[in-house]
Amino acid sequence: MTAGTSILEAITVSETEGRAIPDAATRETIGYAPVHTAADLEGMITRARQAQPAWNALGHDERSRLLNAIADDIEANAEELAELLSREQGKPLGGLNARFEVGACSVWTRSAANTPLEPEVVFEDGGSRAEVHYDALGVVAAIGPWNWPMMITVWQIAPSLRMGNTVVVKPSEYTPLSVLALVNIYNRHLPEDVLSVISGDGEVGAAMTAHPDIDKIMFTGSTETGRKIVESSSNNLARLTLELGGNDPGIVLPGTTVSAIAENLFWGCFINTGQTCASLKRLYVHDSVYDEVVETLAQLAKTMPMGRGLDDASVLGPLQNEVQFDIVSSLVDDARARGARIVAGGAPAPELGPLFYQATIVADIEDGAELVDREQFGPAIPVIRYSDVDDAVRRANDSDQGLGASVWSDDVDAAVEVAKRLQAGSVWINQHGGLNPMVPFGGIKASGYGQEFGVAGLKSVAAPKVISR
Ligand code: NAD
Repeated sequence: MTAGTSILEAITVSETEGRAIPDAATRETIGYAPVHTAADLEGMITRARQAQPAWNALGHDERSRLLNAIADDIEANAEELAELLSREQGKPLGGLNARFEVGACSVWTRSAANTPLEPEVVFEDGGSRAEVHYDALGVVAAIGPWNWPMMITVWQIAPSLRMGNTVVVKPSEYTPLSVLALVNIYNRHLPEDVLSVISGDGEVGAAMTAHPDIDKIMFTGSTETGRKIVESSSNNLARLTLELGGNDPGIVLPGTTVSAIAENLFWGCFINTGQTCASLKRLYVHDSVYDEVVETLAQLAKTMPMGRGLDDASVLGPLQNEVQFDIVSSLVDDARARGARIVAGGAPAPELGPLFYQATIVADIEDGAELVDREQFGPAIPVIRYSDVDDAVRRANDSDQGLGASVWSDDVDAAVEVAKRLQAGSVWINQHGGLNPMVPFGGIKASGYGQEFGVAGLKSVAAPKVISR
């Protein structure tokens, strides 16, 4: 990149070479993403393989130094990155959205750089001793979704690089520019071929996951694609971390003070306009507070500003793409047809743009309705009444997904007891979806396997080796 060139100018290719990428809100073209082929993929994996030994030989201290320099550079370019992300993904600049996501990119990069991982002594007895060392695996394939494209890419690449692996990233075809921009910053600091981006669709992703020279696949996306990756990894025996879909339940316990939880509850459901893997997707509320919770959420839904991401007033944005817009519309229409009560929203908002859908609260709905049983991944939350806590726990667990869950109560100890009975990789009390770079994150059941972040995350991109003497 030469002085004065924007990051977008540096990553976008010409109209004839590339694929037009629209602004999620206005549908105007932002730029053109490269269209890579199978031959490009072959070249990138070969070069990543060749670059790996020298990268590994630099050692942890030097790799950490470079990652810290990258984190500084992300901070120095934060506003430009956030604006591009906001346009391409649709999320507003403010609130828990684009600026927040770019901030998380530097925080998670730094955390991967600075988390110690020493060899572990697992046995010591008189003269004998066994230690586990963590070596690089080789070449990592990182495949991501379109909802938090920059942050999730950092979750995949920063620990992988720290541990001495080289990485080929495949962003979602819906949000390639955000990831190309992020990698552009990374590559100002990394040696050549240590990190590259293949810009292509699911077919390119499939070719990548079956490639014999891939040692590890970090995948975040749908359960359906996750199953295909498990199948293709039977060819290369690549290690897998699968962060898949979620249909996270939340349970509001009897007698909870609704005003104390209202904002957290709303944002637990509507963070990133509901397009978040571990957001609250079905809310079970005790009879004693049901009407108050429904009314309070409806009030918030009606007053939260929704609009174009670059408009500073917005805290809710559009659906990122038409497929997701159609899923959300059809799930709400189905709920209405079943007799559920739409308390707020319940319709598109075409005056804002083609992919805007109003923040929607749906009451008097039961398990079995599609909006409850399927992941909606958008701004529509079903609120289900219950009268018996055991029954609510049973219904919350009656899902093949197990990413996150939450329990809401004035009595935190009582909430923790309920949390122990919930089947999920993470359970939050009086909040939903809060993440910390040192706290392991991952799903159970059809939400995937493997953990990211902290020490567990570093180990997940390393080969354990036992040295005994
Ligand atoms: P998706 O599975 O459609 O796509 C994800 C990525 O996989 C894209 O880059 C896509 O091109 C690629 N892909 C598609 N087919 C492939 C194949 N056969 N082999 C390899 N790669 C392939 O998912 P999406 O619609 O982009 O994302 C939404 C889903 O992701 C939701 O279900 C959401 O819950 C989930 N998600 C999970 C987490 C988590 O941490 N658990 C985080 C974000 C999103």
